[in-house]
Amino acid sequence: MRALFLLLVCLPAWAGGLPHLDLDLRLDPGKGTLSAEASLDLSADHFDLQLVPTLKLSRLSVDGQTRLVSPGPDGAIHLALAGGAAHKLQMSYHGTLAALPDLDQRQVLARLPPMAAARGSFLPAGSGWYPDPGVPFSYRVRLRLPTGQKGLVPGTLVEESDHEGYHAEYVFAHPAEGIALMAGPYTVQERLIPRAGQPPLRLRTWFYPELADLAAAYLDDSARYIARYSERIGPYPFDAFSVVASPLPTGFGMPSLTYLGRDVLRLPFIRATSLGHEVLHNWWGNGVIPDWATGNWSEGLTTFMADYAYKEDQSETAAREARLAWLRDLAAVPEAEDTPLTAFTARHHGISSIVGYDKAAMVFFMLRDRIGAAAFDQGLRLFWQRHRFGQAAWADLEHDFAEASGQDLAGFFRQWVERAGAPRLKLNETRWNSGILQSTLEQGEPPYELRVPVRLLVYPGRVETRWLEVKDATTRVRLPELSLVQAVDLDPDYRIWRRIERDHFPPILREVFVAPHAGLLLASADADKATDMATDMATDAAALAERLLDARPEPLQASGPGLPGGDPVLIVGQTGQVAALLARLGLPPAPPQAAGVGSARVWAARDASGRPYAVVSVRDRAALQALQRPLPHYGGQSWLLFDAAHLVAKGILPALPERTLVATSKVLNQP
Ligand SMILES: [Zn+2]
Repeated sequence: MRALFLLLVCLPAWAGGLPHLDLDLRLDPGKGTLSAEASLDLSADHFDLQLVPTLKLSRLSVDGQTRLVSPGPDGAIHLALAGGAAHKLQMSYHGTLAALPDLDQRQVLARLPPMAAARGSFLPAGSGWYPDPGVPFSYRVRLRLPTGQKGLVPGTLVEESDHEGYHAEYVFAHPAEGIALMAGPYTVQERLIPRAGQPPLRLRTWFYPELADLAAAYLDDSARYIARYSERIGPYPFDAFSVVASPLPTGFGMPSLTYLGRDVLRLPFIRATSLGHEVLHNWWGNGVIPDWATGNWSEGLTTFMADYAYKEDQSETAAREARLAWLRDLAAVPEAEDTPLTAFTARHHGISSIVGYDKAAMVFFMLRDRIGAAAFDQGLRLFWQRHRFGQAAWADLEHDFAEASGQDLAGFFRQWVERAGAPRLKLNETRWNSGILQSTLEQGEPPYELRVPVRLLVYPGRVETRWLEVKDATTRVRLPELSLVQAVDLDPDYRIWRRIERDHFPPILREVFVAPHAGLLLASADADKATDMATDMATDAAALAERLLDARPEPLQASGPGLPGGDPVLIVGQTGQVAALLARLGLPPAPPQAAGVGSARVWAARDASGRPYAVVSVRDRAALQALQRPLPHYGGQSWLLFDAAHLVAKGILPALPERTLVATSKVLNQP
């Protein structure tokens, strides 16, 4: 799922010994109250205590001496400490927390206050519910909750009892950027995985009772993902992994746990993809923390080794479609708004996610293409060994991959990480003559250094891939190829992050769904115009259009050949009438891929001028109504076949390769 995020707390790099925080907490979610005893050991010459305004400090001492303090104008308490030596700060505070609101996903991304309610409590890291040292620290948390509630923080569970209320103690001995606390009326299921020479790994689900039937599958899959990445990168860095259900639409990964919205846990792709992504964040993001100041590489590496890797597991076709989808997203970004990877720190909106997730994932893909899978894996392991529980930057990745491959990768990282944008590639003056294929590969200025795959279509039906080394704006290409080359496809498998003209992407439904202006064209027999049947279909078609389209559609009438109006068009109607209308407009019928038994066919296409349109062709009114709920979710597809509301088949039409036909200087005499 794209809507999953690493919980981000931006802090400066730490230095010196690790501060340690000890918390003794009583949380009563039903009443929304928290009371805390905190003890903080740190070496510093000052400390700023900033709690949310509803938490009141009742006692504070420094090295055993009580201090009388009052907050400054900013609400924080500023403490001067003697000479940067080691100090122990002890404090008591208590008060109420915000109620748990109903939030949508966008709001969940904003900075949330600590919140408590019987149905679930979430006290985010860095949200003013504990004294925050401002640099990474280790901690111990003792938590008490009333009977019926259970809760956790990231870390190792050292003690737990459910007698006269819930009591648990957690320790986190590595540098933590903050502490998040989660509680709720959970049913906990557990599995212990034996580990050689170590205590067993504790896998848990913290689910609401209605999700209990999913627990076993989540435990199985968590174990499977942890085994996969432990083998690939290095042993799993924590003692536990928990899947925690959230009353909010969250998708957070934290050390040793993931906090996922209760409403999405039932969706199959959460277990199939998002769970693996969040497990992998225990290595990338929480095991090695990105150096936020120079760019967050962890989302790209996690996307490449999780979401994208699962496509590679499926098939090369699925992987190719994933790369194509990245390039399609890039094509939608205005060039002026493109940003370099160094500018990506967290996900804010669409464009930053296209760079921070898609481009970064493609950079790792291109790196593997360049240095080979063995050196790539070796580089990953080196990077992990060197930076585990530390902070690392893109420059550290470059260093470790260079060492693993024995190659100088400075140019590669500079052009893909520090530079915004992407090349546009084009083959010109392509000709074959007497056993030599000649061409010119052009790109913009300043040029990228690339290895560009080209696929030669060799007479009478052979296909051959060659790689072109390119470093100039214009590169002259000479390839010996004794047999006649009929055509050349440029990067036909989308292995390079580059800008592609829209016409080369296969049409998908989203082009019509998100168009700023769109038309709605009803296919109906003229004789039907005034009948109740036609009116009912028109009403349902309008309702469907409202769900599907961002634009308020303009009603269109078919006139002559060609699509009416000048905007993308949604065509809706009964099968026979749609076929008749398309024939009248001079547009092709449904793609053969969408043939098959079903009650509705939906497909995307473009007319001769490149204008996108989408067709919804249904057996009857009931079939049209059944599409209302599912259809908006399939904007990324070219064609769909439904039986009532059930999706029978879907697909993306084959892309049109960027094909250059080869000129020959003389008529060929094939023997
Ligand atoms: Zn992520």
